[in-house]
Amino acid sequence: MSICAIMQLMETEGVYFCDACGEEIVIPLDPSQGASQEYVEDCPVCCRPNVVHVEFDEEGEASVWAVGE
Ligand SMILES: [Zn+2]
Repeated sequence: MSICAIMQLMETEGVYFCDACGEEIVIPLDPSQGASQEYVEDCPVCCRPNVVHVEFDEEGEASVWAVGE
């Protein structure tokens, strides 16, 4: 399978639970940033920063989770 086909299979939306308030947050994912990503995002509900981790497996399935900063 070509890289291009794999990219198209990848999910482009992920869900994590805010570490501070427990709300379910839906975020857009960008597979072009790599199979393993980590960035800080402020929770849209409680405004506290979460370190968001995103990992894509070989099928392009995304795992998303967050830990408090
Ligand atoms: Zn929150």
